[in-house]
Amino acid sequence: MQAVTLLGSTGSIGVSTLNVLAQHPEKYSVYALTANRSVDSLFEQCQQFNPAIAVMLDQASAEKLAIKLKNAGSETDVLAGEQALVDVAESEKTDYVMAAIVGAAGLLPTLAAARAGKHILLANKEALVMSGGLFMKEVEKNGATLLPVDSEHNAIWQCLPVGDQQQHHFHGKGVRRIILTASGGPFRDYDLVDLEDVTPEQAVAHPNWSMGQKISVDSATMMNKGLEVIEAHWLFGLPSDKIEVLLHRQSIIHSMVDYVDGSVLAQMGNPDMRTPIANALAWPNRIDSGVAPLDLAAVGRLDFAAADHGHFPCLALAYQALEAGGTSTAILNAANEVAVEAFLNKQIKFTQIAQIIEQVLAKITASNGDSLEQVLADDMQARELANTMINT
Ligand code: NAD
Ligand code: MG
Repeated sequence: MQAVTLLGSTGSIGVSTLNVLAQHPEKYSVYALTANRSVDSLFEQCQQFNPAIAVMLDQASAEKLAIKLKNAGSETDVLAGEQALVDVAESEKTDYVMAAIVGAAGLLPTLAAARAGKHILLANKEALVMSGGLFMKEVEKNGATLLPVDSEHNAIWQCLPVGDQQQHHFHGKGVRRIILTASGGPFRDYDLVDLEDVTPEQAVAHPNWSMGQKISVDSATMMNKGLEVIEAHWLFGLPSDKIEVLLHRQSIIHSMVDYVDGSVLAQMGNPDMRTPIANALAWPNRIDSGVAPLDLAAVGRLDFAAADHGHFPCLALAYQALEAGGTSTAILNAANEVAVEAFLNKQIKFTQIAQIIEQVLAKITASNGDSLEQVLADDMQARELANTMINT
């Protein structure tokens, strides 16, 4: 029996993870569930999964949850705040940590899981984008196991040489390059001029995947793919020129590995996050995920096209930040989080997201990113500058 902590259990990935865990009660127990402020969702999850601990970031929400659980006769303890997220991630009572908080807020608890040598199921790509070098060092130093949940990275993981996946360095293993597939999001067929007037409602309506709001906007700008290029760089130890992006509108091939002998291995499946979640949970074994079998005859065709950086400036900015190194990718991530939030609140236009990130990257001098303090300081500086630009 493996005990699991779910960071961000009420989100899209959190709910899919609980769906998989519920199919295997003999294999997994839930140690802790956490959320920001969704009291009712977390209450229902506690009723169903009976965790030892529930954490809410927000103090007032935690108090409400505690009262509801007490009245329902539950034995779950309720904690509040950032330190409590760290505590349940590093606790001796948990084996697996699903890192599914959205954005920079996921960094500290995910890092704590790495330091405690946990089996980490990584959905929170922002943790690697912000501080990939520091994060991977902690994983290696403390013997943590890092399993990618992001569908592209999980696909690559499955296509890498068996037994070598924990090496994090594939130059010498016959890998020529990896190819990340991208649906292109809801605006892939729009003319550039028409992007000026798209709304948050249109941006979050993804053609193939159902996801949280922030990552849905990131998919529309293709910053999501840019963040994934950076994530792949750290997970697999490959330089940016060995990581390619390919448009594939059906989202059936989740990514590919191209070997020097000309073999290209792809992982396919229906676009449902329960597949990579189940894969990361059970690795190196396999368990049922509840995902319907892939019906390629019904899919009919698979299309591919080059990703045009002119059409997707955020993708170009992410490559640029990765090549610049140090805290550039943390600055990119912070400016993006602020700009996406402002777009969702209708303070800026869709096309201004890329413009703000570009200007923030140009104005702030990145540091080498050797310490967490530096990363957090540059993240803060980027947020302040992006906010100032939005408000003036
Ligand atoms: P979501 O918005 O649906 O859920 C986010 C979760 O984090 C919720 O439980 C929320 O309560 C919690 N949360 C939000 N802000 C918090 C804070 N400040 N402190 C603590 N908890 C907080 O997001 P999602 O779509 O599930 O994505 C989660 C992560 O997984 C993101 O990093 C995303 O990039 C990644 N991811 C998601 C998908 C997907 O299909 N949804 C696919 C690949 C990767
Ligand atoms: Mg992905």
